[in-house]
Amino acid sequence: MQQINHYINGAHSEISERSGPVFEPATGEQKASVSLASAAEVAGVIELAKKAHTSWSQVSPLNRSRVLFKFKALVEHNIDELAELITREHGKVLDDAKGEIIRGLEVVEFACGIPHLLKGEHTEQVGGGVDAWCVNQSLGVVAGISPFNFPVMVPMWMFPIAIAAGNTFIMKPSEKDPSSVMRLAELLTEAGLPDGVFNVINGDKEAVDTLLSHKDIQAVSFVGSTPIAEYIYETASKHGKRVQALGGAKNHMLLMPDADIDQAVGALMGAAFGSAGERCMAISVVLAVGDSGDALVEKLLPQIAALRVGNGVTPEMDMGPLISAQHLAKVNSYVDTGVAEGASLLADGRQLSVADHEQGYFLGGCLFDNVTPEMTIYKEEIFGPVLAIVRVKDYAEALALINEHEFGNGTAIFTQSGEAARHFCHHVQVGMVGVNVPIPVPMAFHSFGGWKRSLFGPLHMHGPDGVRFYTKRKAITARWPKSNDAKAEFVMPTMK
Ligand code: NAD
Repeated sequence: MQQINHYINGAHSEISERSGPVFEPATGEQKASVSLASAAEVAGVIELAKKAHTSWSQVSPLNRSRVLFKFKALVEHNIDELAELITREHGKVLDDAKGEIIRGLEVVEFACGIPHLLKGEHTEQVGGGVDAWCVNQSLGVVAGISPFNFPVMVPMWMFPIAIAAGNTFIMKPSEKDPSSVMRLAELLTEAGLPDGVFNVINGDKEAVDTLLSHKDIQAVSFVGSTPIAEYIYETASKHGKRVQALGGAKNHMLLMPDADIDQAVGALMGAAFGSAGERCMAISVVLAVGDSGDALVEKLLPQIAALRVGNGVTPEMDMGPLISAQHLAKVNSYVDTGVAEGASLLADGRQLSVADHEQGYFLGGCLFDNVTPEMTIYKEEIFGPVLAIVRVKDYAEALALINEHEFGNGTAIFTQSGEAARHFCHHVQVGMVGVNVPIPVPMAFHSFGGWKRSLFGPLHMHGPDGVRFYTKRKAITARWPKSNDAKAEFVMPTMK
């Protein structure tokens, strides 16, 4: 059995006292055992990362970015291996795994511009013979805690900018699929990153709680479910840290009667069922305005029936398994609840069996029609291949539903009306909005984040917000007085 430990100070560490299982979701077999760090082990890593910060923060931004240029080339060279590591532990199909690596690499490319991004502001002559300027400096040791569903992309939303800005980093990946980030750590070392600048600690609540409360952790970036995001935000804030904590989602597509229905259905199939619906930007609800619902159902059903579901390493698959037996049981129980609460189950993926993979955690595409806002399957995040159609009479009713929902991560409108699209962009209470774009994940040079209970904290992730999050500002005011200019002043200084 493969044993996965930690990556500390540029090398793989010893095994911890406690371990947890890592499964291959397509077969249901345990493929590895992962060390779960103790509080003392995490504290040791924080201490060495603090020492590493002393020298790393003094490396010029240009030389820090050169390490990231080499890292980018290494990731590209090893992309097939990395994608397979993702697929074996997460289940998503190989091309989708490559897609997430490429989206992560875009943040590396952005971070390579750190010499420009760190530049401060300078004002000459703010007063007679006085100049003022601001610099952006690193924070120290910062931590990242990531979910299972993007084992490479989400860590890459965090660490490239953090280390480019001169911080040292401790990554705590999901204990369900830790291998790909361990490989990234090796590639960073190969790229010339000094030991101790990027460390991976595998673990569970004990490791996380140590990061949240330790005095030498300056900032915490978190992505995961809403209850844990809220806990992370409250706990780390209480301990005086900067926090950005991204949570769950329930993303709505608003389908107007004038939309190009074939384009909308194509977009919806990928957005609802890609990665088996285990994306924080997956569309899980369609608000079908007017009579658009009938055409939608008619076109969706054959495409759902034609979904190719199987082992993600097999070419030509559309959808792999869910992450775990527990999660499969949870999603199945949501489908049961939807039926019990009176929604019409038009496509039922529960009976799916994948040949030679009978123990895998597979669920076929599910489609509910006539879902209402009171139903559990409307209110809660399911995080599986289950799409709900809510019929609404008009645009205003649809917009109100989106704005009243607890979550506000992503949304999309499909329409040919510029007027409706513009109104939607302006009035919708959601952090990321698509117009005829189903999964509007912002590019790396913009920032990613939801509203309402999809994000706790003021700053979004990566892009300009990422640079702000991982740096602190220092304002300097200076003058070079003549020696005979030494008179004491007892009033509040003002500029002459
Ligand atoms: P999760 O909240 O269960 O776990 C996320 C991380 O928190 C993991 O590293 C886990 O080890 C740790 N953790 C879990 N329970 C903890 C506890 N009690 N105390 C301390 N740490 C704990 O999330 P998940 O199931 O891995 O990921 C799926 C969730 O992530 C979904 O809700 C999805 O919407 C969300 N997500 C959000 C975004 C976004 O950008 N908003 C992106 C990806 C995933």
